Amino acid sequence: MLKEKGAKKIRTRIAPSPTGPMHAGTARSALFNFIFAKQHGGDFVLRIEDTDLERSDTIFEKDIRESLEWLGLDWDEFYRQSERADIYEKYLKNLLDAGLIFWCPHSEEDLAKERQEQMSRKEAMKHVCSHRNKTGAMDDKKGILRFKNNFSKEISFNDLVRGDISFDSGILGDFSIAKNLRTPLYNFAVVIDDREMAITHVIRGEDHISNTPKQILLQNALDFPRPLYAHLPLILGLDRSKLSKRHGAKSVLEYRKTGYLPEALLNFLILLGWHPAPDKDGREKEIFTKKEMLQEFSLNKVQKGGAVFTIDKLNWLNRTFIKNLNQADFSERLLPFTEDLAEKINENHDKWSKVLSLTKERLTTLDEIGDMAEIFYKDPFYPKELLFWKEGQSAENIVRHLRHIHAYLSGTNSWNKKDLEDGIAEYSKKEGRGETLWPFRVALSGKRHSAGPFEIAEILGKEESVKRIEKAIKMFE
Ligand code: GLU
Repeated sequence: MLKEKGAKKIRTRIAPSPTGPMHAGTARSALFNFIFAKQHGGDFVLRIEDTDLERSDTIFEKDIRESLEWLGLDWDEFYRQSERADIYEKYLKNLLDAGLIFWCPHSEEDLAKERQEQMSRKEAMKHVCSHRNKTGAMDDKKGILRFKNNFSKEISFNDLVRGDISFDSGILGDFSIAKNLRTPLYNFAVVIDDREMAITHVIRGEDHISNTPKQILLQNALDFPRPLYAHLPLILGLDRSKLSKRHGAKSVLEYRKTGYLPEALLNFLILLGWHPAPDKDGREKEIFTKKEMLQEFSLNKVQKGGAVFTIDKLNWLNRTFIKNLNQADFSERLLPFTEDLAEKINENHDKWSKVLSLTKERLTTLDEIGDMAEIFYKDPFYPKELLFWKEGQSAENIVRHLRHIHAYLSGTNSWNKKDLEDGIAEYSKKEGRGETLWPFRVALSGKRHSAGPFEIAEILGKEESVKRIEKAIKMFE
């Protein structure tokens, strides 16, 4: 989209609280903010909202930064709210002087009692403070700062996703905005920072809609311009309940650790709430590179209804992106998952490249490589029972088949998958494929699940394959 002359530069932000590792919801908000800013030539800001010192932890700040870096969502500016107390204090003092906020001395117990009474009278729970008209200073250790709400107003805003939204400001009461002059609460700090950082678009989860009227009231009191709002749909599990671990949801860094590719995760996240227009045959494109996201994403095509998190879809995307990697890239991405094989891989690059070709089509996540590749580098170790294709297969038959295969393998010099398969085809057809090929495959791999025996044999080579068949036959002697 072309920028209009003189139009304000688009600036978006992701504002996570460092109170836990970064999950899909925050990562999705970050992605939408990043893509929207970048497709308009704008800036993407990272702001750590760590005013709640008890719950914030620098470990999680590190987690957030690492997650965004891994996803390639590079921020243009970085802020930490805990370093901005002077700024908040300045605004709080101005508002106090103007009589727009006040000190509320009521304790937690007072407020709990008040809520109890309101509940028993079936009234909305809110605190309309008896001190709201008191002006001037107070020993701030004894109270908190509240906004003096003007109850007559309806607040409305136009949400870029959800359209017009209105609130009755009366339900908010005199809401709290700071614990003291240097410790703002979320709604106040956000308003100040969004203004100070010249944020033009606030793109965030739907769970923040109820904060928006408070933020608008504060903007009005401070005479700040209002940013545009876009509230993204909730992310739900397949059963449409709140997303949790049992739906396959993990933190971003856990996805990295288990071998998801960042580009697959980004692709998955962009589709959590946004869908491109279908093509002329009614098909919806599903695979997006970051470049394509920048070209095709549009905030006004974001859906209102909940976005369902389907782990199968993420797995399918991951498989697809793995398949599309070139060999060198694939090998490099596997490095963190193949450390214990590193020495052996380095001894024989040719063999490793065959292993790569075989496994690239089969991996859902990169961490499966260990299990798949080790059969080529370690002696298989398995219980004899695994050689039995089905219960009831006789030991004599297994030995007979393995002996036949052993004789064939020892006698041939045409060592490639196709010729090996042809060489055994007649026998296995006559004796039954499962009957013959199952023990053959297990003898080579030592695993219940693996690639087929001919593919494995080709990579293992003649000597090693013959040796493994002998070992299996010995188990019956
Ligand atoms: N700190 C808030 C959160 O982590 C940010 C909300 C916002 O984007 O305004 O949910």
